[in-house]
Amino acid sequence: MMQWSKRTQSSWIQLAGHQGTYEGGEVLKRFCEVEAICLQVLMSDALCQFVPHYFGHISQDGERYIRLEDLLSGLKNPVIMDCKMGVRTYQEEEISKARSNAIVRSDMYQKMVKIDPAAPTAEEHAQRGVTKLRYLQWRDDSSSTSSLGFRIEGIVVRNMSSSQLQYPPLSLCVSQEAYESRLQALNKALKESNFFNRHEVSIIGSSLLFVHDCSGKANIWMIDFGKTIPTPEDVQLRHDVPWVEGNREDGYLIGLTSLITLCSKPV
Ligand code: ATP
Ligand code: MG
Ligand code: MG
Repeated sequence: MMQWSKRTQSSWIQLAGHQGTYEGGEVLKRFCEVEAICLQVLMSDALCQFVPHYFGHISQDGERYIRLEDLLSGLKNPVIMDCKMGVRTYQEEEISKARSNAIVRSDMYQKMVKIDPAAPTAEEHAQRGVTKLRYLQWRDDSSSTSSLGFRIEGIVVRNMSSSQLQYPPLSLCVSQEAYESRLQALNKALKESNFFNRHEVSIIGSSLLFVHDCSGKANIWMIDFGKTIPTPEDVQLRHDVPWVEGNREDGYLIGLTSLITLCSKPV
């Protein structure tokens, strides 16, 4: 579920996920061991220039946090877009868990109906509930996740919400070239990355964060590695083929190719 928040005393604008905090030039994100391990490895990987600097972790008021470089620092009224990458946004383990625990969820049914009242089957309508697995798969299939390998989780343009946007924003036209070359550079770095290739990680639920401002500063960053997990030793991922249950593929490069194609078209 997407949440939006802004800390007025700083440049911290959050497009998705759980509430974070801002701490002078750094952002603090609730600690997750999987993510901390990934960030540590990424700091000395070919991808390091595409990932916010990781300063380790701290405890504050009994809560542990990951310390990250603030990616909005130096940008004036930044325009931000969070693109969740990959052809699926849940781990294969979540499917088996959901299968063995096929509880009918009314909260997920409500979320589904809110977006598309026609989505539930007659049976799901009658029980006013859907299983978690059905919800997760519907969410990916009904967005561009399954077809294009990414989906837009949220956009903020100068404190306006998506519904107030004019399209295309002028600043987007200015930044398009910078975005395209950054995506091409990321594509190249991914091919050279041990993390992406030899560590055989499945990158699930991770995003590319697009940021730009009216001065023409523009950048794209890889964020959110909470569900980026190593795959079994005998599995060699390609990242550019469709996912079928069991092959562990994330479709990260399918999403990247779609974004490069979109960015290379005139706005
Ligand atoms: P999810 O529900 O997607 O799993 P999460 O709790 O894991 O979310 P992230 O996706 O890492 O959190 O971050 C949420 C939002 O916070 C991003 O969309 C982005 O707007 C903002 N954000 C994340 N990292 C940074 C950063 N280093 N600098 C500035 N903003 C950031
Ligand atoms: Mg996220
Ligand atoms: Mg996350």
